[in-house]
Amino acid sequence: MRQYAEILIDLVSDAVDRPFHYRILPHLQGKVQPGCMVAVPFGNKRYRGFVLRLLKAPEVAAVKDIAALETAEPLLNHEQLALIAWLSHRYFCRKIEALHALVPALLRQGRRPARLQVFALAPCIEPEDFNRAPAQRRAVEILKTRGPLPRSELARLGVKSHVFRVLEEKGIIRAVDEVALAKRESVAAVTPTEPLPLKESQQHCYDRLIAALDSRRCSKLLLHGITGSGKTEIYLQGIAHCLAQGRSALVMVPEIALTPQMIELFQGRFPGRTAVLHSRLTPSEKSRQWLRICSGEADVVLGVRSAGFAPLKKPGLIVLDEEHDHSYKQEDAPRYHAREVAWWRARYHGAVLVLGSATPSLESYYEVEQGKAGLLRMETRVTPYQRPAVQVVDMRQELKQGHRRIFSRPLLEELNRVLERDEQALLFLNRRGFASFVLCRECGFVVRCPSCAVSLTLHLDQDHMVCHYCSHESPVPQTCPSCGGIRIRYFGAGTQRVENEVKELYPGVALIRMDSDTTSTRGAHQRLYRQFREGKAKILIGTQMIAKGFDFPKVTLVGVITADTTLNLPDFRAAERTFQLLTQVAGRAGRGSRPGKVIIQTYHPDHYSIKTAAEQDYEAFYRLELENRRQLGYPPFNDLIRFLFTGTEESAVWEAAASFTRLLEPLRGQVELLGPAPAPLQRLKTYYRVQTILKGKKLGALAPRLRNEARAFRMTKTETPVRLAVDFNPQVVL
Ligand code: ADP
Ligand code: ZN
Repeated sequence: MRQYAEILIDLVSDAVDRPFHYRILPHLQGKVQPGCMVAVPFGNKRYRGFVLRLLKAPEVAAVKDIAALETAEPLLNHEQLALIAWLSHRYFCRKIEALHALVPALLRQGRRPARLQVFALAPCIEPEDFNRAPAQRRAVEILKTRGPLPRSELARLGVKSHVFRVLEEKGIIRAVDEVALAKRESVAAVTPTEPLPLKESQQHCYDRLIAALDSRRCSKLLLHGITGSGKTEIYLQGIAHCLAQGRSALVMVPEIALTPQMIELFQGRFPGRTAVLHSRLTPSEKSRQWLRICSGEADVVLGVRSAGFAPLKKPGLIVLDEEHDHSYKQEDAPRYHAREVAWWRARYHGAVLVLGSATPSLESYYEVEQGKAGLLRMETRVTPYQRPAVQVVDMRQELKQGHRRIFSRPLLEELNRVLERDEQALLFLNRRGFASFVLCRECGFVVRCPSCAVSLTLHLDQDHMVCHYCSHESPVPQTCPSCGGIRIRYFGAGTQRVENEVKELYPGVALIRMDSDTTSTRGAHQRLYRQFREGKAKILIGTQMIAKGFDFPKVTLVGVITADTTLNLPDFRAAERTFQLLTQVAGRAGRGSRPGKVIIQTYHPDHYSIKTAAEQDYEAFYRLELENRRQLGYPPFNDLIRFLFTGTEESAVWEAAASFTRLLEPLRGQVELLGPAPAPLQRLKTYYRVQTILKGKKLGALAPRLRNEARAFRMTKTETPVRLAVDFNPQVVL
C-alpha cells in the first residue's frame, strides 16, 4: 500500500517549486490518487495541493498528514501530469504555473461553475402588443423559432439583459431546468451543415490526411495552401473521419480568426459536441466547457492557443490553423508555444498534427525539408479568383518628385477607379492613432512616455497622446515643453491620419476604420464587419485586424500605406512578419468575380520580403530568409534562450544581469553568449529592461542546469528586487 504522496503546493513561489511529501491517513487511502486536489498543512497554514504521485516511503523524516481530500475524482489525468512536468522543463516555468495553465481557475479553487440559465417561453403567453418594444418582440421570436436557449446564447444573438428582466417580470419567459436542455447550448442556435464535395486539390490532401489518421501513428503534416484554397473544409472532414474512428479532435486558430462565422461552421457540422474555448469566456463558461470536454460530451474543440490544453481523452487529430501566427506563443509564464504543445500531445496520443498556413513559419517549412514533417500543398483557390496585380510604389521617388501625401499617385488613381465603379477598397496600415510621434521642429524634442522608452502616439479623436505600451495619456502640447517653440509637427502616420486624408480627398464617401480603438466595445468588430460587407462603406481602413480572414467579393483594391512599419522592427523575424502580413493583405483583393489590384507603398522597394510578397512567391522568400538565418545563426538553425531582467532601479538591474551572465560564462564556446545588453524596449511601465541571450544548437539539453541557476538567482534576496524571465525560443524580442 502506498501510504505517502508527493504534493505540489498551490503557491506560486520558487521556494515551493518542488514536491513535498505527506502521509495519507488510513481513511483516505485508496481515495487519494495522482491528480487529486487535497488540503495540506504547510508552514502554519493550510493550502491546496495536487497529488503528483504516490510513494511507498517518504524521502524525508518528518512528514505531515494530508488534511483533506478536496475532489472525489482526480482533477488531472496522467497525460496532464506528464505535460506539467514537460512544460516546466521546456519553458523554465514553475510546475504550479504549468498546472494553472491546464486547469480553469474556478475548478482548481474547488468551486463549480454557476448554473447555466436557460430561458423558455412561458406555456401560454398573453397576446400582447410588442410593436412598441421591438427588442422584446425579437427575443420572443428567437425563442419561438429556436426553442429554449441559454442566456449566453441569447446574449450572443443580441438580446440585452434588461430585455430578459422585463420579459421575465411580465411572465413571458421563464428560466427552466438546465440539465435536460444543456445540450441545446450548441445545437439550437446553429443550422446544421453538410460536408462539401471536395475539389481536386483538396481531395488529394484529404486522402493523405485520412491515410495518416488510419495509420494511428503520430505524424506531422504541413498544409501549405494559399488563402481561399479551402483548408477549413479539409479540417472539418478530417475531424469527421477522426470521430468515426472513435477519437476526438482539436482545432486551434489565432484569437483574431475565432469569429462567430468560424464557430458556427464548426457547431453546424458537429452539433452538440463542439466546445469553444477563447479568452473572453467568463470563469463559469470556461469551466463548463472544460467539464463538457472531460466528460466526453464535447469531443470537438475549437479554440485559441490555450485550447491546446483542452482535456480531450483520445485526440486523433490536432490542427493548428495559421500556424505561423505569433499569438501561438504565450508571453507570460508558462511561455509555451502552442505548436510544440500540440506536437507533444500528438506524440502522446498517436495523433496527427496538421499545421495549416498560406505562409508557413520558417521553422515548419524547414522541418519538411529535414523530413520531420510531411507536406500537403494547395495552390488553387476554391472560389472564382483572379490573381491580383501587385504594384510596389517607391515612396522615395514620390518624395523626390514633390509628392508628400501619404497616398502615392498610383494609389490615388486606383482609389478613384474603385469609387467610380462603385467597388470597395481596403487600406491597410499596421499602426493605430494619428501620428506615431510629435516632434518640435526647433529643438528636436519628442514627447515621450514617462514610464516607457517610447514616444507617445497622437490620437486625434480622443484629443490626447497615448502610450501604446502602458496606456499613459497626456494632452497634446501647443508649444514645445522643452524650448517653448511653436513649430510642433506630427510624424509617422497611423490609421486615424489615413482616415482624415481620405475624408479630405473624398468628402462624402462612406468609410469605416477598424483598429483596436474602434473595436474595443463588445460586438463592434462584428458590426463594422457586417456594415462593410453590406456595402455601407466604400473604403475600409484598418490595422492587421483586417489582414486575416476577411472575405469581401467587392473589394478590388488593397492599398498598403507603408510596408515598412513591420520591416523596421528590431527583431530578426521582421522580414518574415512583413512577408506574412503583405501576403495576407494582398490575399484580400480579387475574391469576387472582378480582378483585383494591390498597391504596396514602401521606402524599401528592393527588400526581398517585399519583392517576394509582391510576386506571391513563398519558396523564393523562404530560400532567401533561410540563408540569412543560417548566416546569422538564428532559428531554425539554433535555439535562443532569452534572460530578461527587469526592475525599477537601473543600476540594480544591470548588476543582476551581469552577475547572472557571469554564471553562464563557462558555457561560452559551446554556445554564443550575447549580453547583458539593453533590451530593444529599454524601459516599460517604469521597469528597466536588460537582457542576455544564449544562442546555440539544442539548447533544450541545457534546460535543467539553466533552470536551477535561474531559480537560485530568483531566490537570492536583493535590496531592490530584480525580476528574471526566461524565454525559450521567444517569438518577439522587444
Ligand atoms: P482557406 O482557409 O484555405 O483560406 P477557406 O477554408 O476559408 O480557405 O475556404 C474558402 C471558401 O471556399 C470558403 O467560403 C469555403 O466555404 C469555400 N469552400 C471550401 N471548400 C469548398 C468546396 N469543396 N466546394 C465549394 N466551396 C468550398
Ligand atoms: Zn508607457
